[in-house]
Amino acid sequence: MEPRDIEGDLTEILIDEEQIRARLAELCRVIEKDYAGKDLLLVGVLKGAVMVMADLARELVHPITMDWMAVSSYGSGTQSSGVVRILKDLDTDLHGRNVLIVEDIIDSGLTLSWLLANLKSRGPESVEICALLRKPAAARVDIDVKYLGFDIPNQFVVGYGLDFDERYRNLRSVGVLAPHIYA
Ligand code: 5GP
Repeated sequence: MEPRDIEGDLTEILIDEEQIRARLAELCRVIEKDYAGKDLLLVGVLKGAVMVMADLARELVHPITMDWMAVSSYGSGTQSSGVVRILKDLDTDLHGRNVLIVEDIIDSGLTLSWLLANLKSRGPESVEICALLRKPAAARVDIDVKYLGFDIPNQFVVGYGLDFDERYRNLRSVGVLAPHIYA
């Protein structure tokens, strides 16, 4: 059940709670196989990845550690520019670690492509990406996403960690924000 006061704020539910749960479970089975016998550090990108990180971490039957980064992407309005500033860095030394970046959504891909290069430069054993959502029509760089939840249309979505003006992060599903909210 979603909070009642958001009725009318969404035009459509794109992916519901059960679909997210089922897809994350599938991804976790693959991740467990791929990292069998290896250490695994999940790196969540604040704040949007909080929900996917929490659910992924609880579903994984694998010893993990978690760390967080906060980055801000310079750009005009909603457009990402690829110029990124670290607002909160990792506490963990990445030397020799198997890193899995956990992201909410890949839009242009510019932020993640910067982050990938940044983390790879810190001497990890491996760096891979797990993203709940991707908008193929918005891609400006080619990124190899090893663990992907869903491809979605090029629309502005909220819920399950994703916000508009810090709201809607606590919705259990992912939905399309009605234009009258941001117009
Ligand atoms: P990129 O660098 O891939 O263009 O930007 C990725 C970031 O933009 C995401 O981590 C997210 O914060 C934000 N973003 C991109 N598309 C959406 C969207 O549809 N909804 C929300 N709430 N944020 C988005």
